[in-house]
Amino acid sequence: IELANQIAAGEVVERPASVVKELVENALDAGADELSIDIENGGIKRIRIRDNGCGIAKDELALALTRHATSKIATLDDLEAIQSLGFRGEALASISSVSRLRLTSKPASQSEAWQAWTEGRDMGVRIEPAAHPDGTSIDIQDIFFNTPARRKFLRTEKTEFAHIDETVKRIALSRFDVAVTLNHQGKRVRHYPRLRDLSEAQQRRRVAKVCGEQFAEQALYIEREAAPYSVTGWIAPAQACRHQADIQYCFVNGRMMRDKLLNHAIRQAYERYLLPERVPTYVLYFWLPSQQVDVNVHPAKHEVRFHQQRQVHDFILQAVTDALRQQHA
Ligand code: ADP
Ligand code: MG
Repeated sequence: IELANQIAAGEVVERPASVVKELVENALDAGADELSIDIENGGIKRIRIRDNGCGIAKDELALALTRHATSKIATLDDLEAIQSLGFRGEALASISSVSRLRLTSKPASQSEAWQAWTEGRDMGVRIEPAAHPDGTSIDIQDIFFNTPARRKFLRTEKTEFAHIDETVKRIALSRFDVAVTLNHQGKRVRHYPRLRDLSEAQQRRRVAKVCGEQFAEQALYIEREAAPYSVTGWIAPAQACRHQADIQYCFVNGRMMRDKLLNHAIRQAYERYLLPERVPTYVLYFWLPSQQVDVNVHPAKHEVRFHQQRQVHDFILQAVTDALRQQHA
């Protein structure tokens, strides 16, 4: 079992940033709207995430660290219409097999908090009383301490932190209704407050915090619906954004994806407007019925496959083309 966990860890836990992603997704699945992320030494030494979600009952703490013991899938039908971010029941088991992990939690209905801790799981899971407000904290230390071969692949602390920062940006762009704080070495590096409302103006403020003022000022707002598709978001056609080539965020049904098809459609719209020399920069939210897309093609869940590729491509092409045309008009 231990080996199976460590092999699975190779898929889920590539580096500290992937741990952050999994832990944050769990917090969001638990309904949290406030996340505090503390990082030490690029996450190599320590990753700590506190949330105000529903918590984990004492009896379920050990189970949460067990492979495939997810609470999120009841039937096979659920797999198709899955709404929660995590559903494989692998992340915590995998992470705990390659780190020293402490999971502390208190559901609102429970009067005290409890914690479970493991060290590479050689000694099993220990449960102890703890002090904690409603919600969950998870503390991961010394990632890959027992898998030196994996540890060798980690880059410098600076690079690993940059990956974490990027992961947190994607989260901040995917959930405007959640407050996120990121600290490194005890210093606050990012703070994305919860939005007062979800108006475009308010959303643009967060986009400015994540992508920079320049992008937010120049970006055109896109909004288009043609059942069963809809897209909203911002694109910046301005030359000045050239050096911000990394602002290419596409969310499919709320999940950040790197998708060639969508990127191609956007590029093609740019070419129509004689902007081929400009790197498209965008933050787009594309929604379609979940039966028309496979998101489970890779454990890291970064890739999608659309069943109706042509229609999706044309829809995005049209949406971006219209936005650019309006600007030129
Ligand atoms: P999955 O998310 O795929 O179900 P994980 O290994 O990521 O599997 O998590 C295992 C289980 O632990 C989850 O199904 C959930 O019940 C519980 N859990 C993990 N993190 C949290 C959290 N922050 N708040 C509440 N429950 C959590
Ligand atoms: Mg999960």
